[in-house]
Amino acid sequence: MKKHIAILGSTGSIGVQALNVIENHPDHFEVEVLTANWNSELLIRQAVKHRPKAVVIADKEKYQVVSDALSYLGITVMAGEEQVAEAACLSDIDMVLIAIVGYAGLLPSVKAIQAGKDIALANKETLVIAGELITCMAQENNVSIIPVDSEHSAIFQCMAGEDMSRVEKIYLTASGGPFRGKSLEFLRNVTRREALTHPNWSMGEKITIDSASMMNKGLEVIEARWLFGLSPDQIDVIVHPQSVIHSMVQFVDGSMKAQMGLPDMKLPIQYALAWPERLKSSFRRFSFTDYPNLSFEKPDYEVFRNLTLAFEALARGGNIPCALNAANEVAVKAFLQNRIRFTDMPVMIEKAINRIHFISEPSLSDYISTDQETRIITSEFIQT
Ligand code: NDP
Repeated sequence: MKKHIAILGSTGSIGVQALNVIENHPDHFEVEVLTANWNSELLIRQAVKHRPKAVVIADKEKYQVVSDALSYLGITVMAGEEQVAEAACLSDIDMVLIAIVGYAGLLPSVKAIQAGKDIALANKETLVIAGELITCMAQENNVSIIPVDSEHSAIFQCMAGEDMSRVEKIYLTASGGPFRGKSLEFLRNVTRREALTHPNWSMGEKITIDSASMMNKGLEVIEARWLFGLSPDQIDVIVHPQSVIHSMVQFVDGSMKAQMGLPDMKLPIQYALAWPERLKSSFRRFSFTDYPNLSFEKPDYEVFRNLTLAFEALARGGNIPCALNAANEVAVKAFLQNRIRFTDMPVMIEKAINRIHFISEPSLSDYISTDQETRIITSEFIQT
């Protein structure tokens, strides 16, 4: 039986790699839905090749061009952000890969869970914004959330056959990004291009900046808290520049398990799509002799203040991680537009989350309004 997959965000880095995985396993997967924000050209090419039942382009101005190119193939074409979320609910779909970047992934995740679809989750922001709500909703709807993030996939794989109550601690590994070991003074003058040059991974722009600022690891700490039901003090971060140990679990008897492999997102994507099966692959194999020295170091929480802010937001709970995410999205965008310095990002984020009205048990609409409010506040700080 083939698994029927919807890929929300098929034109991005994760989406393209997911289609590559699917292409290599025609007996296992069938593409049902593809979506993009504005990249109509790539969406059309993907649809002509994979023949999904439906495609959605969030940008309504691109509807006509996509419709003209695909309707004659019998592919349903829709447009608008709401339609992206609705497309995840089509009846034939078994699993939805949420590969949209940022806050825009939240409502499609909610809709897919409400429709009872299993989720392959790349969009970590969903769990950062509303982890408690999303995980409760998944339980109520009997939905599995399978992580795509390499670190969380590693923990998930280490947990196979284990009992969560026997976990003492997890270690999320971090490459340290392009600015590992640098001083605050150095970071003040880094350019957009330098920040977009990641030593080990090729990814979308937003996550690449998050990796350079270590906000990515902060978001992953929050993601792990909800995915695995851990308390914040059970989650630690360790810098491992070679990026071949993707993360580790330490059990109550002191034993540790690690998941290893070359840094290639296709592996965790394939694992999540195929779960609970493990499929063969021809991905390049890891060789120990290519990595005679694996090293580990503590993160610098002072220079990479975003990591500290994420731990603080997690400890405060409620709507604060949602505010952290919104402020970060605004700050990253401003940095990418050369409107603020690299080191301004944590300053803006901290100011914004300190201004936000605290809600201890937020509803979905509280998360939506917190996101909007934080974006306005952060934009004001950036303008002044
Ligand atoms: P990209 O920026 O490469 O791709 C994002 C995708 O989302 C594109 O298809 C884009 O469409 C679509 N999109 C963007 N905004 C909207 C919107 N408002 N409505 C609908 N669709 C939208 O991101 P990545 O693939 O790098 O990352 C995707 C997610 O996966 C992120 O949450 C990231 O943190 C996570 N992740 C990524 C990893 C990686 O290696 N890239 C690793 C681990 C996690 P369009 O192309 O038209 O703009």
